[in-house]
Amino acid sequence: MDCRLDGQVALVTGASSGIGTGVARGLAAAGAAVIVNYHSGREPAEALVAEIEGQGGRAVAVQADVSDPDAVAALFARGAEAMGAIDIVVANSGIQKDAPATELTVEDWRKVIDTNLTGQFLCAQAGIRQFLKQRDRKLSRALGKIIHMSSVHEVIPWAGHVNYAASKGGIALMMRTLAQEMAGQRIRINAIAPGAIATRINAENVAGEAGKRLLELIPYGRVGDVEDIANAAVWLASDMSDYVVGTTITVDGGMCLYPGFRDNG
Ligand code: NAD
Repeated sequence: MDCRLDGQVALVTGASSGIGTGVARGLAAAGAAVIVNYHSGREPAEALVAEIEGQGGRAVAVQADVSDPDAVAALFARGAEAMGAIDIVVANSGIQKDAPATELTVEDWRKVIDTNLTGQFLCAQAGIRQFLKQRDRKLSRALGKIIHMSSVHEVIPWAGHVNYAASKGGIALMMRTLAQEMAGQRIRINAIAPGAIATRINAENVAGEAGKRLLELIPYGRVGDVEDIANAAVWLASDMSDYVVGTTITVDGGMCLYPGFRDNG
């Protein structure tokens, strides 16, 4: 058995940039057709579709705001219509709107929770409904697979980012509850918790002096790249991980190992 996904269809949210693009590429390389969701990045989404098609794969770009229930329903309907089915959902979209707790506006609290937590719930719900509706396609041991994009900040508190940390902490128990609820239907739901990955969401943190300070938090000594996350996503989507249910795979170069205790315990 290997990490192949031939014949399966994956929907990846926020796939016009960063981790989402990397995951979409990885799933396509493993043989999946890809529904490339984008919010505002139409051009990069269409370029990604052309790239996948140029390598002999199948892909389609579909715009949607994942925090809008009607838009999510339309995304899944259009995606399933274009590709014939949906077998894998990667709920990846996420944003940061950082501020000290005393300054944070309720609008920025809500925006982050709406996108990161409610948006990921709506995509999981739509995916589960789709898997149950289309029944067993006999392409995988599971009826369907959902992968939530969490963060090391589902466990590491993060001063100045209370909305983001709350959204990711919420994803952890949402994912485990959905996994418990759906496992009996052979729907596998898991999460990936990336550490510091070089994308635009943290462009200011990975370069220069800030980048040097960041490396002190990463025992493995390098910032991650999107392929590190894509590899975990392909494995979680494949039958290689068929007995993995309700687990968060941490992909962080050891960031969650409390490196501050190495010389100070
Ligand atoms: P990114 O900013 O490149 O990607 C976020 C994507 O989400 C973008 O494509 C954006 O258009 C999309 N998006 C934003 N609002 C949306 C909405 N309402 N509807 C649909 N899509 C929307 O950053 P990234 O680093 O690739 O982040 C991807 C995910 O990984 C996020 O959930 C983020 O929290 C998580 N993550 C990233 C890191 C990191 O170090 N880069 C670490 C931990 C977790």
